[in-house]
Amino acid sequence: MARLFAEYGRPEWHLLAVALMTSLFGRTVALVPPLVLGVAIDAVFVGDAPYTLPLVPVEYLPETRAEGLWFSAVLVVGALLLAVLLTWAQGVCFSLFSNRVQHRVRVDAYEAMQGLDMAFFDDKQTGQVMSILNNDVRNLKSFLNGTVGGAVQLVVTVTAIAWLLFYLNAQLALVTLVAVPLLGIFTVWFMRTVRPLYRALRASVGDLNTRIENNLDGIEVIKTSATEPFETARVDDASWTTYLKTWAVVKLEYLYQPGMELMAGIAFAFTFVVGGLWLVAGPPGPFSGTLLVGEFVTFLFMTQRFVDPLAGAGRIVNSYENARASAERIFELADRPVVVRDADDPVPLPRSGVRGRIEYDDVTFGYRPDDPVVSNVSFVVDPGETVAFVGPTGAGKSTLAKLLLRLYDVDERRASARRARSDDVDRGSVSVDGVDVRDLALSDLRRAVGYVGQDVYLFDGTVRENLRYGAFDATDAEMVAAAKAAEAHAFVTALPDGYDTRIGERGVKLSGGQRQRLSIARAMLQDPAILVLDEATSAVDTETELYIQRALDALTDGRTTVVIAHRLSTIRDADVILVLDEGRVVERGTHAELVDAEGLYAALWGIQAGDTDDLPSELVSRLSRVSTAD
Ligand code: ADP
Repeated sequence: MARLFAEYGRPEWHLLAVALMTSLFGRTVALVPPLVLGVAIDAVFVGDAPYTLPLVPVEYLPETRAEGLWFSAVLVVGALLLAVLLTWAQGVCFSLFSNRVQHRVRVDAYEAMQGLDMAFFDDKQTGQVMSILNNDVRNLKSFLNGTVGGAVQLVVTVTAIAWLLFYLNAQLALVTLVAVPLLGIFTVWFMRTVRPLYRALRASVGDLNTRIENNLDGIEVIKTSATEPFETARVDDASWTTYLKTWAVVKLEYLYQPGMELMAGIAFAFTFVVGGLWLVAGPPGPFSGTLLVGEFVTFLFMTQRFVDPLAGAGRIVNSYENARASAERIFELADRPVVVRDADDPVPLPRSGVRGRIEYDDVTFGYRPDDPVVSNVSFVVDPGETVAFVGPTGAGKSTLAKLLLRLYDVDERRASARRARSDDVDRGSVSVDGVDVRDLALSDLRRAVGYVGQDVYLFDGTVRENLRYGAFDATDAEMVAAAKAAEAHAFVTALPDGYDTRIGERGVKLSGGQRQRLSIARAMLQDPAILVLDEATSAVDTETELYIQRALDALTDGRTTVVIAHRLSTIRDADVILVLDEGRVVERGTHAELVDAEGLYAALWGIQAGDTDDLPSELVSRLSRVSTAD
């Protein structure tokens, strides 16, 4: 919480300062009416005491009872008006402060989340992340808006009134203040007990969000599998867990808050009884001196104003603990260590003029320690050439390509920690134009390496916005040229609003082939020197395939291309084909060389051509794991 104020409160300190000042001043002004009332009873109505007020010099005070009446009325009304004004100013400032901090915290947390490693997103924590960015950030805001002011007011009011109580009658004040240490002990107990419960509650809200998000993503599967009752039961479970965790907190809250009120009430009653006895039968027990009726009335008013905030301290402490659990989650997200990040002193890669030479040097990599997915892979692709990865599903083709895009890093630090135990660890390097990709700035690398994947993601927006995504300064003419080259122009102009047609989540739905051509046009506009192409596995009709193939030919022309191939027919012209099996390169060469070699590639080629008669059945069943469409 200290960090929250230091990092995010500081830029808005002026708002917080004004808010606190007005709130304190407002509290002080609110004390004037009861104080004046007590004095007026004794000095004006009963008339048996002089008109005195703390901090006000005698020469300013009224002398006659009539003057005293008017003086009191003006003071009371003036104080009320001022209090209204101050309350307004305080509310506005606290709202501005808390909403601005909320905004900054949310954007920073989002930015930190976006920079996290792919491994974080593989764990599918989207629901937790959403709940941090939504619920937890909002939690902080309500704490900053409602509670911070309350806490400061509490401290100041209680201190000021304690001082006043002592000023009015020190002996009676001791009676009232006996409650304070008891309330303190009770509060510390509550904070310690509720803290882990709040943590558990915030985590369970995240789990519930994860469940629901997951189901929304998979709604098609749920419907087609008729598993609605099963999923309802799972959401029921997650929601019930949240209910139980909430209830655990609420049970404690409802012990604590009324407990505080009860203790404060007892302190008030105690003061009332002791003061009442004093008035009726003279100073009781160890007490001495006189007590006037007006003095006692003021004292009781003040005692009320003393115990009320103390009773309300429960809410403040509760809200603090809730916000604390949220702040922990926000900063935990922001502080996660990131493996894939910019080098400290990145080697610059020219914006244009990247030649596009790729080299993999003895690359061994796994997603989990000691579980390599690709092993000892080495190859070189010269500028403008095409390399194709083929092999059974799970052989490591996509993994190899992800290393070039730095979606993952060969993490030698992780390797050196394990080197003592195993030989088969993360090592080797991937380089572009002779520079290790880990030594480049991520933005440079990703400008140089384009990616066209199987799942084409279209953002909610127009065709134009989607095409220019990542190439925001491209002109309309460039965009249309790219769309034409990608065989997309014709179908785009046939859409209701042409390039301004809304597509994506809430817009016109496009076919798989159309989406693919848009994604090819997008890559063309970005104009990277190197292209990673994850071929679509899904079958499209022959005509569409022809379009896509022509679009791809236009795209790859003159660029270094890495193809993750599913259809061998499309990579016959590749300069080099790497055949992968269980993460190792088992064969390499051109199509003709590999067919002649009569190894794994020749077998795959045979299967895709429908010719499996001469192959051993074990090999056929293993190779049929290859995702093919033909
Ligand atoms: P291919 O592209 O040849 O089908 P992949 O590179 O996708 O193969 O996968 C290689 C192996 O790595 C598979 O066993 C797969 O289960 C595993 N794998 C792929 N992605 C991940 C990931 N994000 N986390 C953990 N394991 C993964």
